[in-house]
Amino acid sequence: MIRIGQAGIPLSCKGRTNKDGIVYTHKSLDLNAIEIQFVRGLYVLSDEEALFIKDYASKNDIEIHVHAPYYLNLAGDHEEITMSFEKIMKSAQMANNIGSKTLIIHPGFYGEYNPKKTAKLIIKNSKKIVSLFKKEKLKIKLAMETMGKQKVFGSLDEIVDVCTHVKEVIPVLDLGHIHARGNGSIQEREDYEAIFEKLDHYGYGTTSCISQESSMRMVMNCTMCPSKKETCRLPHSSKSSWIGTSMSR
Ligand SMILES: [Zn+2]
Repeated sequence: MIRIGQAGIPLSCKGRTNKDGIVYTHKSLDLNAIEIQFVRGLYVLSDEEALFIKDYASKNDIEIHVHAPYYLNLAGDHEEITMSFEKIMKSAQMANNIGSKTLIIHPGFYGEYNPKKTAKLIIKNSKKIVSLFKKEKLKIKLAMETMGKQKVFGSLDEIVDVCTHVKEVIPVLDLGHIHARGNGSIQEREDYEAIFEKLDHYGYGTTSCISQESSMRMVMNCTMCPSKKETCRLPHSSKSSWIGTSMSR
C-alpha cells in the first residue's frame, strides 16, 4: 500500500500545532500519512497533544513518521556524538509516544575522515542507537535519509551500506537530495528505475518477503539543484512534499 502525506504542518492549515496538522491532513487533505517534524531544535509535545495525535492517527489510519532535529553527527567527536545521541533518544521517546513508525535522521559529516572511516563510525553508532531503542522498549525504527550535499555522508550507496550492516535501520529516499547530490541526475524515467532497481538488489521492494518495514520519503520538488535549473525536470520550489510508502524487505 502506498501512502501519501506531507512533511510538517501544511501552510494552508490555520492552526499551527501538530495536533491541528494531523486533523487537517485527514479531514481537509484526505491523506493517510504525515511526517511530524522535530527539526528545528527539539519540539516538545505535551502529554495531552501526544495522546491526541496517537489516538487520532490510529482511529483514522494515518501513518506517522517523525523527522529528528537536522543537526546530528554520528561520525563526529565525542561531544558531537553525545549531543546526537541525546537528541535522537529524546526525539525517539516522543516519536514512540505518538505511535510513529520511524525516526528519520540525517546521519553525519565526513569531517576529517575518508568516506570509509565515516561509514564505519556511523554503522557503529547506529548499532548503539538501535540497541538503546530495544533497551528502552521503543517500537519505532531508526530511518536514515539520503543527503543532498556531496560533502555530507549520505549517498544512496552509503545509506544502503549502513542499512545492510545494521538491518534494523531503514533507508529513506529523499529524491530531491539524490537529484541534487548527482548534480541534477534524475532526468528520465530510467533514472528513477535505476534507484529502485538498486534497492531491489539489496532486498528492498514490494515483491520480496515481508520481514522488515522500509520507508521512503520522496521529495518531489527539487529545492537544491544548484545550476541545472534549465535542464532539471522536477518542479522547483522552496516547499517540499513527500510520498511515504511502506514496503517490505
Ligand atoms: Zn531530512
